[in-house]
Amino acid sequence: MTQITIALTKGRILKETLPLLASAGIVPVEDVFSSRKLVFATNCHNVRVIILRGSDVATYVQFGAADLGVAGKDMLLEHQGDGYYEPLDLGIARCKLMTAAPVGAKPQSGRLRVATKYINVARQFYAQQGRQADLIKLYGAMELAPILDLAHEIVDIVDTGNTLKANGLEPRDEIADISSRLIVNKAAMKTKFNEVQGIVDAFKKALENN
Ligand code: AMP
Repeated sequence: MTQITIALTKGRILKETLPLLASAGIVPVEDVFSSRKLVFATNCHNVRVIILRGSDVATYVQFGAADLGVAGKDMLLEHQGDGYYEPLDLGIARCKLMTAAPVGAKPQSGRLRVATKYINVARQFYAQQGRQADLIKLYGAMELAPILDLAHEIVDIVDTGNTLKANGLEPRDEIADISSRLIVNKAAMKTKFNEVQGIVDAFKKALENN
């Protein structure tokens, strides 16, 4: 029997993915939130799910360690890898990738310092805008960087805007609309066509019935 591995993004995306996965007929046999396991069997005996950081899902799928994955578009934009298709927008975990700066801050006259975990996305964005920017890689709490003068601006995910507001920042330029996507390893799409296409179709149906 052909084994299928689906890589899921942990955190808020996982909470929104599981109901969709269930509508597609795939249910992990254990509670993924209370277990410390990373690999879970499902009610479909040839399908297992693995739970990863968002930044690692595209890597597992790109190299075929997972056949399918669910990842935020922000992670896919930043990853810039190939080796996978992106057949479905799941429409979950919607937010925007934006620049943000301290409320009322004037445009920077000298060189702009930008803190972000989205270095590739930010490099492209500022280049397109014709603005020179020095990029500073952070792994979290980007909102802190302007407060401590590490950076003038940040590039980050904005949903309600509450996190920005609570830290004296305001959204500025919109870079991309974000939602989670189903991705499929290109080789698996050929070698495991029936199983993989079956899961893509089940997700499609689940979205239509949503
Ligand atoms: P908010 O205060 O609602 O604007 O949420 C902002 C924070 O929540 C961001 O700094 C992100 O880390 C996180 N966040 C919001 N929406 C998402 C999402 N769809 N995917 C991943 N992280 C998110």
